[in-house]
Amino acid sequence: VDVVMTAEKVQRRLIAVGSGKGGVGKSTLSTNLAIALHGLGRKVGMVDADIYGPSQPRLLRCEGQRPEAEGKQLIPVPNEYGVPLLSMGHLVEPGQAIAWRGPMAGKALDQLIDAHWGGAEELIVDMPPGTGDVQLSMMQNHKPVGAVIVSTPQDLALMDATRAVDLFNQAKIPVIGMVENMAGYECPHCGEVSDPFGAGGAEAAAKSMGMPFLGRIPLDIEIRKSSDGGTPVALSDGPQGQAFRDIAKKLAT
Ligand code: ADP
Repeated sequence: VDVVMTAEKVQRRLIAVGSGKGGVGKSTLSTNLAIALHGLGRKVGMVDADIYGPSQPRLLRCEGQRPEAEGKQLIPVPNEYGVPLLSMGHLVEPGQAIAWRGPMAGKALDQLIDAHWGGAEELIVDMPPGTGDVQLSMMQNHKPVGAVIVSTPQDLALMDATRAVDLFNQAKIPVIGMVENMAGYECPHCGEVSDPFGAGGAEAAAKSMGMPFLGRIPLDIEIRKSSDGGTPVALSDGPQGQAFRDIAKKLAT
């Protein structure tokens, strides 16, 4: 992947979606927020900066496509959701591991962001988990307007999320707020609600760090199934979709 030196850097609102650790629902949140923002009439694109574990091509149902290029700039891949996407997943074969050191990953990030985004006013950036090289490149080279941090309510995940928040704070990137994912599971058989990962931890953590709490997404099999199927739940009328739409509204204001 070449380094792109863009003559003019277009100013777009970049919103980073980060997490302290993997598997807490950062990609799921990114997809659903982007789709919900599109539903609110925003012109939004998706950058899958999870260089080592890209999942947006699956989530936005545009796997197996290659982005075209204009000059040295990549052209985002369109999809049925109206959220054009650039992802490392489009540039490597499915299942191929990306064994790059930090500088290469940083260059790949530049290429995904400094692309031919056309009319997109806003880019949701699905970050890799943790606090590594890609995060640093993102903060130094691309200055997001803010970051959304997602965590499960579990202590260990929250500890890592706190570190992710700290990194953005150090770089003086405003943290827009915290989202609690996988909170509360309603048994489909008896209707009883249980909390496999605990409850309320992310809201408490947000409060103690003095940042807004943006909302809570339940642990729900429909969310998992619709994500795997490439039909994100933000498009459906139910309460799960509403939970994502409510968070998107807070980002849009
Ligand atoms: P991350 O980007 O943090 O690694 P993902 O968004 O890929 O996490 O989510 C990890 C797995 O958990 C995926 O299979 C996803 O469908 C599932 N998942 C995420 N959020 C939920 C939820 N609220 N309810 C059920 N499954 C979820």
